[in-house]
Amino acid sequence: MIQDIEPRIFDNSFKNIIAESQDLFLSYNGDTVLVKEDMDKLWYPSFSDFENEYPDLIHNARFLFQINNINYFLVEEKELDSVNGWSYVTTNRFRTEAKYWRSFAGVVGWQLNRWYGNHQFCSKCGKQVKHSEKERMLYCESCGFQAYPTISPCVIVAVHDGNRLLLTKYAGRAYTKYALIAGFAEIGESLEQTAHREVKEEVGINIKNLKFYKSQPWPFTDTLLVGFFAELDGDNTITIDEEELSLGEWVDRENIPPEELKISLTSEMMEAF
Ligand SMILES: [Zn+2]
Repeated sequence: MIQDIEPRIFDNSFKNIIAESQDLFLSYNGDTVLVKEDMDKLWYPSFSDFENEYPDLIHNARFLFQINNINYFLVEEKELDSVNGWSYVTTNRFRTEAKYWRSFAGVVGWQLNRWYGNHQFCSKCGKQVKHSEKERMLYCESCGFQAYPTISPCVIVAVHDGNRLLLTKYAGRAYTKYALIAGFAEIGESLEQTAHREVKEEVGINIKNLKFYKSQPWPFTDTLLVGFFAELDGDNTITIDEEELSLGEWVDRENIPPEELKISLTSEMMEAF
C-alpha cells in the first residue's frame, strides 16, 4: 500500500525548524505538484535548486515531515515551473508511481497543503489563525479555538460468500475499476455499524462475522480507511443504489482481475481474498 515505504521511515513528528538549503520542498498549485520527471521517476526540488531564482523561498517554508531524516517543507509560492527543468504535474501521478515513498511524501504534503489553505481563518470567530510552534495545530488568538488536520474515518468492506467476493463499480466517477463497498462513518456510529449500514445501503444485503483486516491513511481524500472482511448473512440478491454504484456483482475468486500496483487497501484486500 502507498504508506508501506519500508525500509524507509516516515516520521510525522512535528518540528519547529527552519529550512536549510539541502532540504526538499513541496509546491502545489491546485491539483498539481512541482516535480522533475527523470527516467520515469518523480523528483522533488531542494531549496538549493531554487536559490538563484528564488532566494527567499527558504525563509517562507513550513516544516512538514521527514522521510529517512530528509526534511520536507511546504512553500506557498506557485509559479516555480519558471525554473528550467521543473513542472507542475497532476497529483494523479501519485497513483502510478512505483516508488511509494515518493508518492506518499507528495500526497501527504498535498493533504497538509489543502488543510492549511482551507483553514486560514478561525471557523468560530473569523479572525486569522496562527500556527502553533509546538504541534501541527492552528489556533485563534482571539477566541482560543484550535484546529487539527482533518482526517475522516471511512470503512471498506470486502463481503464474501464462499468462493465469491462482492465487487462494485462507482457511478459517475473517473475511477472505473472494480471496488469494494466503502463509505464514511457518520455521526454517532461505530465503524462496525458503518460497515453494516453501507453494505445494506449500497447493495441491499446483510453481513455477519466482521473481521478487521488493516487500516490505511488515504491522503488523497483526507480519509483514514478501515478495512473489514465480512460474510454474507442470508439472501445474496444484490440491489444496487444507482446513485452510488453502476455495478455490484459476485465474482468468483479466480476471476478477480489482478492489479499491478497495489497502492490502495481495496486492491490489497482483493488480492488477499
Ligand atoms: Zn476565533
